[in-house]
Amino acid sequence: MTSDMSQIKHHLSDELLMGYAAGTLPEAFNLVVATHISICDECRARLGAYEAVGGAVLEDVGTTDMSSTLSDVFDIIDAGGTEFRAEPAAPKSDIFPDALRDYIGGDLDSVKWRSVGMGVKQAILPTSRSASARLLYIPGGAQMPDHGHRGTELTLVLQGAFKDEDDRFARGDIEIATEADHHTPVAEEGEPCICLAATDAPLKFDGMIARIAQKFARI
Ligand code: ZN
Ligand code: ZN
Repeated sequence: MTSDMSQIKHHLSDELLMGYAAGTLPEAFNLVVATHISICDECRARLGAYEAVGGAVLEDVGTTDMSSTLSDVFDIIDAGGTEFRAEPAAPKSDIFPDALRDYIGGDLDSVKWRSVGMGVKQAILPTSRSASARLLYIPGGAQMPDHGHRGTELTLVLQGAFKDEDDRFARGDIEIATEADHHTPVAEEGEPCICLAATDAPLKFDGMIARIAQKFARI
């Protein structure tokens, strides 16, 4: 599954990479970041630079001014981050990148799906309560209920693709939705779309039926 890696168009934000490097993200967000990084060379290199910033900041506290440290790091990023580039991951036959497979302790066939209606299935993953993580299985052509967000929602595509009002997201792509965003994701025709999604606040649904379904699905 390395052939599609260079096709990734939607990457992690600086904010998420810094939070991950600093260890300040909720566990569910860490899982999404780690999963993206395990298939995205570009974000892995960017993370290396942020980890270097963190180390340099700790070493330099009280001794030098931070701007020189930061400019060194940005030079490294500009140079392509080659000093930090990790070896490409070995090809795997399943759709779960290493970080996710390690977390779940197995591949797709070990996931315990629960139906949430209209052919959509989910599996809530065990994480700390400050944010929730789930796997979503959306049949080709199926539409998710139109919704807004009370916090941040991260959606990482593992198989297939979906489109919403903003763009198209395929394997490896991550959509970062915030309180300002309202969208209606639709899975592309063809193979089911499987995503890893994390939210730090409940989604906002407009219709009464969708709100009732939300209760049961714990979205
Ligand atoms: Zn990336
Ligand atoms: Zn959303």
